[in-house]
Amino acid sequence: MSPGIRVSFFCGLTMGKQMQAAPSVDQFESVNCYNCGADDSAELLFGQDDLTGKPGDFRFVTCNRCGLAYQNPRLKIEHIGAWYDDEYIAHRKENNWGLLTRFYESGMQKHDRQKDALVSRYLQLDQQCSVLDVGSGSGSFLQHLRKKYGVQAAGVDFKDLSHLPFYEGVTLHNGLFYEQNLPEGGFDLITMWHFLEHDYDPVRSIQTAERLLKPGGHLVIEVPRLDCVSYRLFGKRWPGVQAPQHTVMYSRRHLLQLMERTDLELVEHLPWGAFPAYFYLFAGTAFLLKGGKGLNLRRAIYPYALGQLLLSPIMLFERSLNLAMQTVVCRKA
Ligand SMILES: [Zn+2]
Repeated sequence: MSPGIRVSFFCGLTMGKQMQAAPSVDQFESVNCYNCGADDSAELLFGQDDLTGKPGDFRFVTCNRCGLAYQNPRLKIEHIGAWYDDEYIAHRKENNWGLLTRFYESGMQKHDRQKDALVSRYLQLDQQCSVLDVGSGSGSFLQHLRKKYGVQAAGVDFKDLSHLPFYEGVTLHNGLFYEQNLPEGGFDLITMWHFLEHDYDPVRSIQTAERLLKPGGHLVIEVPRLDCVSYRLFGKRWPGVQAPQHTVMYSRRHLLQLMERTDLELVEHLPWGAFPAYFYLFAGTAFLLKGGKGLNLRRAIYPYALGQLLLSPIMLFERSLNLAMQTVVCRKA
C-alpha cells in the first residue's frame, strides 16, 4: 500500500513541537524485497527522524539477492500517518512565519518552475493536456501548470488537502493512488515527485500509472539517489534516509529495474532532479551536527541561505556531479 505523500521543498520539515514515543514493536511488519520478492536481507543502517528528532530507530537492509536498500521491518501503514502530521510545513494554511514564510514560498515557486522546466523537456503542455500529480501535497505544482498552460490538473494524496488554496480548479483524489477510480488511458503526463520512495507498493504504483497514461503519454519520477555523493558523505544521516517515511532507497540501477516491471519505454535517466541537491548537502551536514535531535527550522534558515550563497559556484554543475537526486522519464508506446 502506498501512503502517496509528496515531499515538498523542505522535505517534511516540521517545527517538532509534538513529541511522541518511539513506535512499539507491534507497530512494525516485516516486508520482502520490493524488487525481487526475496526474504533474505542484510542490515545496512539504522535511520532516525533527523528532521524532527522524534524518537525511534528504523532499520534499513540490503536485499541479498538483488541489492535493493529498503526499510525492514517497516511501520504498518496505519501508523505512518502520525509521521505526516499537520505541522508538515507543506500543508500549513496560515502564513505567520514572517521571513521564513517568504523564504519558503519563494523556494516553493522556484521548485515548481524547475519541475515545469524538467517535464517541458519531453512534452509541450497546453490546454489539451491532462496532468496527474501523484503525491500532490500542497497542490502548488498543479496550480502552476494550470495557470501557465491551462492544463486539466488532477492530484492524488494520502491526506485530504483539498482545503488548501492551490487546489482551486484542481481535482484532488484522496487516498491510496492505486485504489482511486481514475480514467484508464486518461493522462498525457503523470508525475511522481518524491513519492515512490515513500510507497508501500511501488511496483503496483508504476503499473497503475502505466494503465492511466494515454498512448504517447509520459511518466516522470524523481527520487533521491542512493549511489550518489551525498550518501557517501553522510551515511545514516543522509537526508534520503528520512526514517521512517522512506520505505526504499533507490540506486540508479534499482530505479531502472523497477521501471522494467512495466512496458513503458525508457526515455531518459537523469542524475539530477527538480529538487535542489543543495538541500541534501545542508540538511545532511546539519543532521550530522545535531546527531538525531531534530532541526529548528527558524534557526536553520540563516545558515541555509549563507551556505547556498557559498556553494552556488559548485551548484552550477549540479547536473553533472550526481549529488543527491535522480529522475527517470518513461513513455507509453
Ligand atoms: Zn531483492
